[in-house]
Amino acid sequence: MNEYGISHARALELLRDGFAAVAGSERVKLEHALGRCLDAPVTAKESIPSFDNSAVDGYALSRSTLEKSPGGVVRVEGRVAAGEAAPPLLPGAACRIFTGAPAPEGADVVLMDEDVPGHGTDADGAWIRLPENAPRSSNIRRRGEDVSKGDEALGTGMRLRPQDLAAAASMGMSALDCRRRVRVAVFSTGAELREPSAAKSSPASIVDSNRVLLSGLLKGLPVDVHDGGILPDDRDAITGALLSASQRNDLLLTSGGAGRGEEDHLVRILEKHGELLFRRIAIKPGRPLSVGFLPKGGPCGCIALPGNPVAVMVCFLMYARPVLLRLCGGGWDRPRHFNVAADFSMSKKPGRREFQRGILRCKDDALAVARFEEQGSGILRSLRIADGLIELDEDVTQVSKGDEVRFLPFSSLGIDAP
Ligand code: AMP
Ligand code: MG
Repeated sequence: MNEYGISHARALELLRDGFAAVAGSERVKLEHALGRCLDAPVTAKESIPSFDNSAVDGYALSRSTLEKSPGGVVRVEGRVAAGEAAPPLLPGAACRIFTGAPAPEGADVVLMDEDVPGHGTDADGAWIRLPENAPRSSNIRRRGEDVSKGDEALGTGMRLRPQDLAAAASMGMSALDCRRRVRVAVFSTGAELREPSAAKSSPASIVDSNRVLLSGLLKGLPVDVHDGGILPDDRDAITGALLSASQRNDLLLTSGGAGRGEEDHLVRILEKHGELLFRRIAIKPGRPLSVGFLPKGGPCGCIALPGNPVAVMVCFLMYARPVLLRLCGGGWDRPRHFNVAADFSMSKKPGRREFQRGILRCKDDALAVARFEEQGSGILRSLRIADGLIELDEDVTQVSKGDEVRFLPFSSLGIDAP
């Protein structure tokens, strides 16, 4: 804790310890399981592939036949395509085989068509000529080379991606045990706000952009979102709406009114009607972020985001998203970052962590990150132009061109155009 508030690291600790996965799991069909968190491990009931099969179109034979007479001729006896049962391999012969077909018993190599120097048919049937140099690759996909029977293929808590669903399908599963979807209500607060479709009621009104931003940020997560609309800067109205929503939701996300001003009510509401986990955090942008629970002793979390759109997105990504992933039954992982050379210089106040909007550039074949010049927390354009966030630690006071800085790509924070 310093004059700016609690540290980023402390806030993350409090959030990690303050929130647990919601109770309840359900069986979810694979087609609906994308992005859900597994609630039980998936163990392979059989090996994948379940039989040795050919990786190419060609001729299955034994390696001793292949290597016995380089350049010699071998008879082709039998044929097997994908989905068929393999015929027995006759001694000294090859079997015509196609990709995915089971390898005949005794065939330990498949000579791919491209490696066969000659082939034809005579009175005795089909033949092939063997290459002078036998290829090393067997071209056979071995039973269990992807997954072995009994392996834990997918672990509890993992968020299912398309390739995980494909693995489950390949193991013959059509549904998975997943943590239930998390219920989230989103509110905007501010007397100045109006809906995008509403006419300007006063010259000082502005359009609410935070709600659509938040609902977009929530899209990829396994949550059901309730749109709580716009609330006025009125303590009773906000209290009533939040207490009521806290009965039906696991988490409330509000934006605006989180500061200490006369028109800011969120912190006082959390103190009076619930419990405050923390208020004010030593970061920029987003310092007024406050988190608590509603009602007192109640299980519903409430993340009161600041009002400025850039602060909303930064605070959502850095604090609300990990909380949501935890509620959904996932792990508590730091978002992936990489270090990259700064293509800018700046000085910074010590004592708070900053999240600057950064643009990746390729300079002389090396990656560098530029800083979007206008870093005002109301400038949404900075988020549109940026590729991610440059994270500068509390003790940094100066960044010079060429220094390594930590970069969090938006793609590692779940933001990508679909
Ligand atoms: P506040 O945290 O309520 O003091 O708001 C800080 C700034 O963010 C003010 O300029 C607000 O007008 C603006 N703001 C608050 N809520 C929203 C919103 N939902 N959409 C766009 N701007 C907002
Ligand atoms: Mg306000």
